[in-house]
Amino acid sequence: MPLLPRRFKRIKSVLERRMSNLTILTEEIEKPHNLSAILRTCDAVGVLEAHAVFKENRIPTFNSTAQGSQKWVKLNRHKSIEVAIKYLKEMGFKLYGTNLNENAKDYRMLDYRGPTAFVMGAEKWGLSKSASMLVDESIFIPMRGMVQSLNVSVASAALLFEALRQREQEGSHLDSRENISEALYNKTLFEWCYPEVANWCKSHGRDYPKLNPVGEIMENLPRTNKFRC
Ligand code: SAM
Repeated sequence: MPLLPRRFKRIKSVLERRMSNLTILTEEIEKPHNLSAILRTCDAVGVLEAHAVFKENRIPTFNSTAQGSQKWVKLNRHKSIEVAIKYLKEMGFKLYGTNLNENAKDYRMLDYRGPTAFVMGAEKWGLSKSASMLVDESIFIPMRGMVQSLNVSVASAALLFEALRQREQEGSHLDSRENISEALYNKTLFEWCYPEVANWCKSHGRDYPKLNPVGEIMENLPRTNKFRC
């Protein structure tokens, strides 16, 4: 079935508001509903890609909490927290570890308009020592209740929305055209519009076909391909 023009327009308008310079790195988060809720928030805020390290390199699972957001926010898996942090630093991100230690700063005191990655710890143990040492800055969300910490997905939402608030206030970094290369934009657009064809192209080691202005594939592909979005 061809992609409806209305659907193509919607996909483009969401992609145009994605930010490649705001992300989240999760360290050994175990519960599918937490990971699902985090990706759903990433989608809502406009995060292009998220990052994660899983215990014993487990395959992540999502549940209905995600509402399908895992299709719209690419989750990059890394072998270890050290590898993930090194990768993000090389990409120019400033890393903010979420910690309740005495060096941590109130998250409202910092500026997240530059390339920002929030590093979130595991449900039970929080951030590892290694992660805490490697991040650029430690931050916390002040708590006024009896319970010492927030659920990790709730903390992620507070931080991501604060970054979005700061960026919206300044009126910059909000348009993907400013911070996503044309090649990445076109690649993501194709994958969002035609995920099955994109997988087929990958398995055949070939480039994605071009799309015309109304989102139709400008190439005759084998009939076995389903053009479903
Ligand atoms: N006992 C753990 C500890 O001491 O870190 C609690 C872990 S908490 C349930 C799971 C994660 O949620 C934390 O590692 C952090 O990423 C995030 N988090 C929870 N409360 C937070 C807060 N008040 N400020 C910042 N991050 C918080």
